[in-house]
Amino acid sequence: MMPLRIDLHSDTKTKPSPGMLEAMTRAEVGDEQLFEDPTVNALCERVADLLGFTSAVFLPSGTMCNQISAAVLCRPGDEIIADHNAHILTIEGAGTSVIARAAGTMIAGQRGVFTGEQLEAAIRPISRYAPRSRLVAVEQTANFGGGTIWPIDVIADIVSVAKRHDLLLHMDGARLLNAVVASGVDAKTYCDGFDAAWIDFSKGLGAPVGAVLAGDSAFIEEAWRWKQRMGGAMRQAGILAAAALFALDHNVDRLADDHANAKLFADKLTGIQGLGVDAKSVETNIVLIDVSERAESAPEMSKKLRAKGVRIGAIDTTTLRAVTHLDVGRGDVLEAAGILAELVADETAK
Ligand SMILES: *Cc1c(COP(=O)(O)O)cnc(C)c1O
Repeated sequence: MMPLRIDLHSDTKTKPSPGMLEAMTRAEVGDEQLFEDPTVNALCERVADLLGFTSAVFLPSGTMCNQISAAVLCRPGDEIIADHNAHILTIEGAGTSVIARAAGTMIAGQRGVFTGEQLEAAIRPISRYAPRSRLVAVEQTANFGGGTIWPIDVIADIVSVAKRHDLLLHMDGARLLNAVVASGVDAKTYCDGFDAAWIDFSKGLGAPVGAVLAGDSAFIEEAWRWKQRMGGAMRQAGILAAAALFALDHNVDRLADDHANAKLFADKLTGIQGLGVDAKSVETNIVLIDVSERAESAPEMSKKLRAKGVRIGAIDTTTLRAVTHLDVGRGDVLEAAGILAELVADETAK
């Protein structure tokens, strides 16, 4: 097996840059859970402002943001409505069933995005026999949809349907800033009408750890209770918050490079027999490759690529997912596309 040279497995693979590490070592710190860490406090204020909320809380992970938000906004037996591939319902260990003790109902969206009409159809009539429809979760961008951006008019529709039915709204904004950079719509506008929203720093923004969940002050006060309860309350976390602040200053606009690299990667694979790649649908930093027409499964292809020094994950038996990020450049992406094309050509020749 060749050493790993190009890692397109996920944008979580970034390592802190020298500039980020320096910011971390210079961070002014204190006891975070007593609100004595000035760097964490500054980060929370900045993210609350960015997303258009009054308050925010720093958490160790995006998963904890999703889980705490669900726990605050749902009562046991309530129902969360999300796309059928939504991270909050599908790959967090059924946390919403365990922690919030909420049920989930899934909508079959298009590439991770559903419409107001689909939402309307999924809302249950009020009845003591049924779970109470309570929380609508939007994932901006839709990870397993292929980094799809929820258009702002679709979001506005979702918000209006939700409000009409007295539902609450949660934004899983793990990659919200990718959507902002790609679309030019600002984060506040995307979050307008939502009860809670969060962004992740350990994805495309390039920080090692951390996410910030925002909402109104009553929501954040209750979120703090859950943070404490779940062991997410920290101490000198300013070292981590400094990385996040550095990321907001230096790593947001450059997400456009990741988007251009993803597009380039998709373009290079377009037209190769047996690889289903729709370059037009690549809106941000994620490229889905449908390999259902090939004899080998996606996990088998992923393994063969890894043996050639390239890591691209399989998200199911027929789909590969490549994610561009800060630590892969244009040259890497071209090389990875070449290696994948070669692998496919070798197999076709057999
Ligand atoms: C990564 C991710 C999460 C979870 O974030 P972690 O920081 O890895 O816990 C949640 N939602 C989406 C859409 C993600 O991509």
